[in-house]
Amino acid sequence: MPRKEHLHTYELYKKRSEKGKCHYQAGSKIYFRCTDPDCTAIYDKEFLVGKRARCPLCGEAFILTKADLKLLKPRCLGCSDTKKGRAYRAAQALLQQQMEPTEPGESKDEDEIEEDIFLR
Ligand SMILES: [Zn+2]
Ligand SMILES: [Zn+2]
Repeated sequence: MPRKEHLHTYELYKKRSEKGKCHYQAGSKIYFRCTDPDCTAIYDKEFLVGKRARCPLCGEAFILTKADLKLLKPRCLGCSDTKKGRAYRAAQALLQQQMEPTEPGESKDEDEIEEDIFLR
């Protein structure tokens, strides 16, 4: 059965430089490739900003941002917000235990409820 068009799920692809060094040099290009076993797509990181991709965690489509592309496997806002949300709540709880005044800071809690809907 021929494979249908799919949204790529990207992961960081480390390209060795010609001299065999495997660490990054400032200004060197960073690539992301599709994790699909039948797909050979590979793109320049800069090219992917604003492109649609599939989240490796929940499978939902999302638009890649520069922040996403700092991750090994870029994920959708819902999945990254969930992680942030948990860390935020943990920090809040700690602060309250210490009876210190809390900064209002970010209030991004509205996405948390949907977190489990798309999990497989
Ligand atoms: Zn692909
Ligand atoms: Zn996701």
